[in-house]
Amino acid sequence: MDDDEHMCEVWQRAVEHTRSRSPASFEQWFSSVQFDRLEGGVLGLTARDEFVRDWVAEHFVPDLIERMVSLLDLSEGLRVEWRVSTQLERPVCRIIPREARVDGRASVRPPPRSDRMAIVRPVNDELSAMLNPKHTFGNFVVGPSNELAYAAAFASAGGGGPRYNPLFIAGGTGLGKTHLMLAIAHKVLQERPDARVVYVSAERFTNEFIMALQHHKMDEFRARYRTACDLLLLDDIQFLAGREQTQEEFFHTFNALRDADKPIVVTADKYPQQLQRMPERLVSRFTSGLVADIQVPQLETRVAIVRKKAHLEGIVIDDEVAVLLAQTVQTNVRELEGALIRLAAKSSLTGCPVDIEFARPELLAVPARRSDPMSVQEIQRAVSNHFRLSNGELLSKDRHKSVAFARQVAMFLCRQRLKCSYPELGRAFGNRDHTTAMSAVRRVEALRQTDPQVNAHLEAIEQKLASSEE
Ligand code: ADP
Ligand code: MG
Repeated sequence: MDDDEHMCEVWQRAVEHTRSRSPASFEQWFSSVQFDRLEGGVLGLTARDEFVRDWVAEHFVPDLIERMVSLLDLSEGLRVEWRVSTQLERPVCRIIPREARVDGRASVRPPPRSDRMAIVRPVNDELSAMLNPKHTFGNFVVGPSNELAYAAAFASAGGGGPRYNPLFIAGGTGLGKTHLMLAIAHKVLQERPDARVVYVSAERFTNEFIMALQHHKMDEFRARYRTACDLLLLDDIQFLAGREQTQEEFFHTFNALRDADKPIVVTADKYPQQLQRMPERLVSRFTSGLVADIQVPQLETRVAIVRKKAHLEGIVIDDEVAVLLAQTVQTNVRELEGALIRLAAKSSLTGCPVDIEFARPELLAVPARRSDPMSVQEIQRAVSNHFRLSNGELLSKDRHKSVAFARQVAMFLCRQRLKCSYPELGRAFGNRDHTTAMSAVRRVEALRQTDPQVNAHLEAIEQKLASSEE
């Protein structure tokens, strides 16, 4: 390993350490910071603006330096040289997730040599290092949208209740799937420190598999995932779509573990049957235990999540603000967290308390959910799927109640998400009159307030739309 590489390694280790203390805010800030160099006692960093520089310098850099000094065994500290530039080619936070590092798409200079990645590592050491104490069962807010997944995950960790094998957790992005996986790992390792728990994303599993093939290390690979594994947590299985060789390998891994009665937990952004380019035999394995879904949390749960996060991050906020946040960011808990942290950061920089007067204008600036790639057709497709209609039926003249209702829901969603005008809506839905579109939207708007079933339909569709936006 040459000097440059060694220094990169030191930086990355320090980053992982600091990041694990508060990943949400770390990610937030370090997506605007770039690592340039570490040489001659100087750490070179670039920040997107002064605002970021000052915050990061104060809140993160001391910890990073302390770590690096101890890793390098230096007798004195490191000096930091900052640059400010809006052009960040390699922001830290696109670099640090393991997946990004392993596949080499984004890397700190110099790029990691492929043979630097050992195929087999001491499993628990590595896992413990990445486990964030915040991702525990105790810190997971349970509500109607996630209670089944929570209970099943808890049971998988040996917490009582029937244990299903495999447990398949399905749900949109940012709704807590990885949190539950890591909570399982936490609990098991706490109670049985010698248990061999393997947490891996499907992307990393794929990369390791490819590397093992290339380097003739399949025996080690198989040992890690089959014999030396007491509990396998495989995150984001949708990544295996169309990767036939990895699917095949995983199929055998799965069978080996299940035959040995070792628990397997899998997550995906879809239900097993909806996974694309996934062989039937894997889909049927996934459905052979319990499929538990996580839906978009209701307002009350979102408020409770905001309160919990604020408490964990030591942020003092008014109740009113918690409610406003939960109303503003509706479909993704990660974004909800991001909005809270931004608010807290801004408040501490400006010295304003996080009260409603401060929060309201700030939250108005929260970017609307990304809606560009979403089209009327996609919404129509999602709604048809949800109500099990064909697209033709949705656009037809059929006035049958259930078809008409689905059509109204689709119009409502198009209006809400795409801001379609009523004449546009009418045209997109089988050339109807704009007044028909208007009354459809109004009807669903009104029902949403009063009819929980209508609300549930809308939330389920929203969730599908949110996950297909990824
Ligand atoms: P996913 O893996 O489903 O994309 P994550 O598990 O990464 O989502 O969750 C995103 C963020 O939201 C994490 O910081 C997680 O702690 C938080 N989160 C999601 N759901 C909850 C919940 N019910 N209670 C507390 N935090 C949650
Ligand atoms: Mg995840």
